[in-house]
Amino acid sequence: MSMPDKAERHRDRMQRKKTRVDGAIARADRDQGLLLVLTGNGKGKSSSAFGMLARSLGYGMKVGVAQFIKGCGDTGEEAFFQAQPNVVWHVLGEGFTWETQNLARDIETAQRGWAVVREMLEDSSLNLIVLDELTYPLKYGWLDLTTVLDDLGKRPPMQHVVITGRAAPEALCAAADTVTDLRDVKHAFRSGVRAQRGVDL
Ligand code: ATP
Ligand code: MG
Repeated sequence: MSMPDKAERHRDRMQRKKTRVDGAIARADRDQGLLLVLTGNGKGKSSSAFGMLARSLGYGMKVGVAQFIKGCGDTGEEAFFQAQPNVVWHVLGEGFTWETQNLARDIETAQRGWAVVREMLEDSSLNLIVLDELTYPLKYGWLDLTTVLDDLGKRPPMQHVVITGRAAPEALCAAADTVTDLRDVKHAFRSGVRAQRGVDL
């Protein structure tokens, strides 16, 4: 094929693509508060959620964070976002589940935590809420999924909620507007590299 033919075919293809994309953009004409789920075994769930937090703050929006499973050390995002105005930050978990080994206490902690989240979900001044690692208390049955879905359903219509954590329950994904399953292709930890500041924590 000669160069002019190739260029013409490329132009035609791009024009068809543009028509398709422009049409899709024109059809998406609603605004609403979104429920997003970031799940899967790949790295990037919490850091993506905190990316949305940064975006929201950039617009002067008010945001809330609830962390359900607090790791051993503090993270860079916690240090950074806690120091910003317009951020409400709650640590509602006590540590990795395999480190507490006290079922009754884990259940109580999770339920007390959800009561705090419920208040955030009733606060229409919060434009975006990150519920980091919420899938764990759901997976272990420390929180009742029906109650959680019910409370999420009653939140203000323009409030966005981002939920992270592995193994998100089916019903949660079904209720969400946007669901991303991050796939673990490889992770440096498995070749012996410890968690790196700025990348992993
Ligand atoms: P991040 O906070 O980096 O976005 P994440 O929220 O997707 O990660 P978590 O399951 O919450 O993943 O784990 C948090 C920590 O574990 C991070 O330090 C992250 O780099 C690490 N991690 C995430 N996925 C994997 C994996 N597949 N193998 C090993 N370590 C992982
Ligand atoms: Mg995470």
